[in-house]
Amino acid sequence: MNKKTIDNVGDYLKSNGIKPSFQRIRIFEYLLNSKEHPKVDDIYRELIQEIPTLSKTTVYNTLNLFMEKGIVHLVTIEGTENRYDVNIEDHGHFKCEVCGRVFDFEILEGDLKTDLPEGFVISQKDLFFRGTCADCSRKKN
Ligand code: ZN
Ligand code: MN
Repeated sequence: MNKKTIDNVGDYLKSNGIKPSFQRIRIFEYLLNSKEHPKVDDIYRELIQEIPTLSKTTVYNTLNLFMEKGIVHLVTIEGTENRYDVNIEDHGHFKCEVCGRVFDFEILEGDLKTDLPEGFVISQKDLFFRGTCADCSRKKN
């Protein structure tokens, strides 16, 4: 589902077989509102201010549950860096080499076609570009 079409997070979790606890709802909402593909540490650091009982393990487990149910994707741009994304439609990521932010972009040619032989089953398509974002380009000049 595209992130633009989710208006009630509790119902969305329920319809994907997830019991919508307060922590789960807040973690999903954080992902939904973040445009920068947060890491576990980012999510934890932000939400601990609001939910003092939150643990990093809970964040990990919740993200794993979301992935298991297919409503969150792992974005692996560099091997050491796990970022999470609620936009599960095929789309590309652009990493700025200056500020480190990761942006979404749409794939305009419709579907990403491949020449994989019959029998191969694709579970996720990733397209990564890197370069300099508009903000950083402007600052350079
Ligand atoms: Zn930048
Ligand atoms: Mn994305």
